[in-house]
Amino acid sequence: MRQSHLFGKTLREPPKDEVAKNAIFLERGGFIYKTMAGVYDYLPLGFRVLEKVNRIIREEMNRIGGQELLLSAFQPKERWMKTGRWSSLADIMYQFRDHSARELGLGATHEEALAEIATRSIFSYRDLPLLVYQIQTKFRDEPRAKSGLMRGREFLMKDLYSFHASESGLEEFYWKADTAYRKIFERCGLQFYVTEASGGTFTKEFTHEYQVLADAGEDWTLYCESCKYAQNKEVSSLKADDECPKCKGKIQIARSIEVGNIFKLGTKFSEAFGLSYSDETGKKLPVWMGSYGIGPGRLMATIVEVSNDEKGIIWPERVAPFRVHLIALPGKEEKSASAVLKAAESLYEGLAKKGVEVLYDDRTEKTAGERFADADLIGIPYRVVISEKTLEKKSVEVKERANPQARLMTTSACIKMLTK
Ligand code: ATP
Ligand code: MG
Repeated sequence: MRQSHLFGKTLREPPKDEVAKNAIFLERGGFIYKTMAGVYDYLPLGFRVLEKVNRIIREEMNRIGGQELLLSAFQPKERWMKTGRWSSLADIMYQFRDHSARELGLGATHEEALAEIATRSIFSYRDLPLLVYQIQTKFRDEPRAKSGLMRGREFLMKDLYSFHASESGLEEFYWKADTAYRKIFERCGLQFYVTEASGGTFTKEFTHEYQVLADAGEDWTLYCESCKYAQNKEVSSLKADDECPKCKGKIQIARSIEVGNIFKLGTKFSEAFGLSYSDETGKKLPVWMGSYGIGPGRLMATIVEVSNDEKGIIWPERVAPFRVHLIALPGKEEKSASAVLKAAESLYEGLAKKGVEVLYDDRTEKTAGERFADADLIGIPYRVVISEKTLEKKSVEVKERANPQARLMTTSACIKMLTK
């Protein structure tokens, strides 16, 4: 991609109405556009990151047997009346009347929808287990929409729903989902704690949350660094400096961001929708359900919150919008300028041919300093500079975003390293 053609430009100044680091860097870097509080548009750079995150999520969901589908955001009131959540979620759910005075809501979550829809797919024990998921837009009237992509009023959620013949079937899958979640967050380059948390009105058992320690987080996690045991402060009787109940290590406390969670729903939703199956003897039994959420936008914001410096974002390789930021510095003298541009074009083509994703900064109106500052802000893992000076040494300058040291190498060594 040529940067001169990129839709979405970097901003020189941080946006005035943002406090969260992720919002400041992502808006300044041209990844997202703020439409209103808690409502963001993904521009091409941001969309590339989002799609990489989503791809990781899809691969891990498919690996545990998830079938992808896509449900509507519009929901009839009657559906939510069956579980009583039309009124219990009224504070956060967008509810309104259409022109014919019919009452509708925008989906804040999809347990009701899936419990209803599954009645067309689940009849017998032979139909179970079933696992479906979507990556879909949710709407919530969040009172604290000041955290950028971390807390949207319109936001993406990956929500998986599982259907089982028995509680033990649900239990077994629950831990499979946990393994998949750990892989997703690891692949996104995050360090996290799997915390015990309250199931709210769903269940008396603990549910599990995936918490990333970060000052910008809205949760508090009590954790043991040595054995990784952790609890959400909301349900914990532990406090800082206590002895870890699992390994006798020391409990610490820190702010954290919930990037995902897994819930055993039991039979609450299936009973409300008459979702049952016949067992081997023909007896009708309610289906056991679980639900498993991840916020891809929040995940992306979390990566920014924990992986940055004063100059900008430092993307982990697997979710970076591009692998290489190629910068050509042609200088003033015409002959050497054209040699620099020629070398840059040829490296750009050469890398593209090998499937390496390159953002090629071919902009002529910006100074070298501005272009380096943009590269640091955008945070692509490798910066490659070609200038008269590097050409004189028959080389290019390579710098990793996460490392202050730049080094010179030959073009072929550079291609070899970047295609590894
Ligand atoms: P929180 O406690 O942070 O409000 P939640 O417990 O309500 O989140 P769920 O309803 O279980 O979250 O949603 C599943 C996942 O969706 C969360 O783990 C989070 O990653 C993401 N998520 C929830 N709310 C938002 C939001 N407003 N904006 C962005 N992502 C969100
Ligand atoms: Mg929560």
